[in-house]
Amino acid sequence: MRYSKLFGKTLRQAPAEAESISHQLLLRAGMIAQEAAGIYSYLPLGWRVLRKIERIIREEIDKAGGQELMLPVLQPFELWQQSGRCLSFGQSLFTLTDRKEHKLALGPTHEEVIAELAHRCVQSYRDLPLLLYQIQTKFRDEPRPRGGLLRVREFIMKDLYSFDIDEAGLNESYEKMSQAYMNIYARLGLPALMVEADSGAIGGKESHEFMVITETGEDEIIYCSNCSYAANAEKAQSAKARINSEAPLPLEEIATPGARTIEAVASFLGVSTNQTFKAVFYSADGEFVFVVIRGDLEVNETKLRNTLKCSELRLATEGEVSEAGIVAGFASPVGIKDVKIVADDSITLGANFIAGANKAGYHFKNANYPRDFQVDLVADIVLARSGDNCPKCGTTLSSARGIEVGHIFKLGTFISKKMEAFFLDHNGASWPIVMGSYGIGLGRLLAAIVEQSHDDKGIIWPLSVAPYQVYLCPLYLDNPEIAPLAEDVYHKLEKEGIEVLFDDRDESPGIKFNDADILGIPLRLTLSPRTIQSQSIEAKWRVGRETQLVPLENLAAEVNRLLREKLAQRSVS
Ligand SMILES: [Zn+2]
Repeated sequence: MRYSKLFGKTLRQAPAEAESISHQLLLRAGMIAQEAAGIYSYLPLGWRVLRKIERIIREEIDKAGGQELMLPVLQPFELWQQSGRCLSFGQSLFTLTDRKEHKLALGPTHEEVIAELAHRCVQSYRDLPLLLYQIQTKFRDEPRPRGGLLRVREFIMKDLYSFDIDEAGLNESYEKMSQAYMNIYARLGLPALMVEADSGAIGGKESHEFMVITETGEDEIIYCSNCSYAANAEKAQSAKARINSEAPLPLEEIATPGARTIEAVASFLGVSTNQTFKAVFYSADGEFVFVVIRGDLEVNETKLRNTLKCSELRLATEGEVSEAGIVAGFASPVGIKDVKIVADDSITLGANFIAGANKAGYHFKNANYPRDFQVDLVADIVLARSGDNCPKCGTTLSSARGIEVGHIFKLGTFISKKMEAFFLDHNGASWPIVMGSYGIGLGRLLAAIVEQSHDDKGIIWPLSVAPYQVYLCPLYLDNPEIAPLAEDVYHKLEKEGIEVLFDDRDESPGIKFNDADILGIPLRLTLSPRTIQSQSIEAKWRVGRETQLVPLENLAAEVNRLLREKLAQRSVS
């Protein structure tokens, strides 16, 4: 490819609105262009990278036994009503109405469509297992699209669905896909970690995310450096210690003037915050909810949402709190009526807690559950934090930030039951197919590679996905010897099957080198009057300072050897 003909220009500086590093660098390199919030075009260089990512994914999924097909983007809305997931997706689901007033959805994912297909095409256990996938554009109406390609409303995804006769089969499919994902990340030069995750709107019992650890990641990961425990903070658990083994003492009302916060009450009474009950108020799908949790802990809203099985959850307003008859600052589960109460199980791990008295200026001493109050639900709704103890081995947990680059789900049978995707067993009995769902966003992978691999000059593409392998950079094209020689080198490299971006522009060495760095093409070949003197070309990798002179004689074969050697070195720690 001749640079002079290339569509898409590099920019000296990223537009001010670009917030994440990948967004800035991809705009600066002229690889993507924003059309609207969360909606992007891929320009030729960006598209070449995306196509290479796609090829790697396809190769690994095919190797694992996947069969590629193509499902429609336009989905009858009835399918979403049948599965019930129009509720869990809520406003994230793009919908439209056709000229005959039929409601349609733009697919954010395809469990409904493919389960309905299985309903028609799978008859018996002999038709299973199946691993079916597609690589296709998806739509989600994100409330806050941001970060360039990291959180978008239109995106290309590889989505695979597994169909098995039982849990054991599902586990086998899940294992195959986890391995395929790890192979994909390794080939993309992305060190990814598999962590336990919340299933969110997709649903199902168990799910895992693949995370690339980077300071700029939008997710928090809680992990144990002693055992293998690692989870998204939304899902992470921690071991909660019992704070005392005292016998319950009589409930006692005490004056705590002005002590409206946990810290103030604890310091006023000379106890630590873990001996208090904290009250937090929410609105869950419009219902007022009183949450009680130990004073030293915080509420994990994802766990709370799952416990309540609600779709919209937010903190209650002051008005809603007082309307519920609660005295903010002195709120208590003791003596409160007609309010839904959810408790974290930490309130059972000790006795004689301090709780509010629902009366301004007063608290209770020696509050004990269930002696002094009842609750509607007890569950683990605590936000696990770095410094807490590992739920598996007790070691202190750490935290890191990461970018999610894949999410896989053990769906089980909830969708196949709703979509009537059944199979007949050996005895002719009918059972729901056990399903799994496996997603990987291509644009997100591309952005994660840039977040992970760049320097202050620009992107550093791994050779496996670089838009071109070689940046051919002749200097001083007005020199009568340079131009024809550069043309000759360009043709020879292309003939050898090497992907070359030929900087045939009459620009200064500074501009050419800068552009080569911004674009992040792995191998730069510089032809100058100096290198011609020794009948050679200067080769330099994008990373590092060393250069080497490669003789022009047999250049193409030698460059090919250098590239193959580099690709073989690819290793991910
Ligand atoms: Zn551990």
